[in-house]
Amino acid sequence: MPAVNILSLCVTFLFQRCSWLIFIKISLYICYGDPLQTHKSSFTNYLTFTTMIETKAYAAQDENTPLAPWTFERREVGAHDVQFDILYCGVCHSDLHQIKNDWFPGIFPMVPGHEIVGRVVKVGEHVKGFKVGDLAATGCLVDSCRVCENCKRDLEQYCLNGSSQTYNGLEQDHKTPTYGGYSNTIVVNEDFVLHLKEGVDLAAVAPLLCAGITTYSPLRHWKVGKGHKLAVLGLGGLGHMAVKFGVAFGADVTVLSTSPKKEEDAKKLGAHHFVVTTDPEQVKAAKNSFDFILDTVSAEHDFNMYLSLLRTDGVHICVGVPPKPAEIAAFSLLGGRKSLAGSGIGGIKETQEMLDFCAENNIVSDIEMIDIKDIQTAYDRMEKGDVRYRFVIDMATL
Ligand code: NAP
Ligand code: ZN
Ligand code: ZN
Repeated sequence: MPAVNILSLCVTFLFQRCSWLIFIKISLYICYGDPLQTHKSSFTNYLTFTTMIETKAYAAQDENTPLAPWTFERREVGAHDVQFDILYCGVCHSDLHQIKNDWFPGIFPMVPGHEIVGRVVKVGEHVKGFKVGDLAATGCLVDSCRVCENCKRDLEQYCLNGSSQTYNGLEQDHKTPTYGGYSNTIVVNEDFVLHLKEGVDLAAVAPLLCAGITTYSPLRHWKVGKGHKLAVLGLGGLGHMAVKFGVAFGADVTVLSTSPKKEEDAKKLGAHHFVVTTDPEQVKAAKNSFDFILDTVSAEHDFNMYLSLLRTDGVHICVGVPPKPAEIAAFSLLGGRKSLAGSGIGGIKETQEMLDFCAENNIVSDIEMIDIKDIQTAYDRMEKGDVRYRFVIDMATL
């Protein structure tokens, strides 16, 4: 048979097999133009017929507008991605700071939420650690560079090339905005999805993903435990978790609070002592007392006054992030060789360790469940320090 006939047979066979595919691709070409002129990811999407995931959410359109329903598209589940439907999402004071542009100009529309728990509905072909139906959780991070010194030390939160925050951040392409957990579903790279044990109180576990790890990590780093006097400054979402961890690690725990009405709660949480910081007599009596102060305060406060409560060599650890910089006198530190330090959330490995520790020791957050439509009221109460001790959104109300 002449070569030209063989070629013609092959072409006919291929055309019969693939004609519908070619037809669709030609149609796409007509609709969307020359693929080679388009961005690489959209070109890949269209050749592989990728569909995005329609997602329901609550978003702030700018820093002056209350949160309202909004829909957007999440990426299709990639080979290393896990998609999980969100059951509960905690409400962190950082959500409020970021919506209000307290720290830096935010990326809007903004879908807050980084205390996210739910069940897996889809996994990518290379995912090994999760299957459909598993519990899953995500905290403040959805990705990082993986190769820098800090990522290699399991400190992705300090990624030198910029970690991807769960919302109000950018994916590792440093272009695509991230959207958080006030939404019905999320797609996250497997390496940034945490495991939860079946049977846990899911709503009460959600706040562990930020309030939990943010307080667990510094207490572990500074090896706070038996023989230490720990003061937890501010009894809110982070503060109440710090009390639980401090007690679990064996420290003698004092709550420093502006709210006298929280004393009974503090004791129920396990705190051994309570100091009302608006009462000068109580503050005076607490001077030179503490080895550590874990400062969870969200608003402006007098660091110099609190530093005077530390013993010699004491450490004041900032985890709270007030919008304005603080004024600190060098004398507040040098008299008694005191240190002022800070700590940000925690890496993925440590977050998993914290979740496992909590499951083994029956530690969860004390929560008040809300409908998503009541988020603004929750923010107003949070601003007034009236949180007992974490709002959690029931995402079924979205
Ligand atoms: P929260 O639930 O609102 O608790 C903050 C507590 O601070 C309040 O309950 C109140 O406790 C106390 N407080 C408020 N204003 C005060 C003032 N002017 N002076 C003294 N105490 C005051 O907030 P949260 O969710 O725990 O977050 C706390 C802070 O940590 C926020 O700034 C948040 O952005 C930050 N954060 C940081 C990280 C990190 O990685 N470092 C992670 C998460 C959150 P009392 O009523 O007991 O005084
Ligand atoms: Zn948070
Ligand atoms: Zn890195």
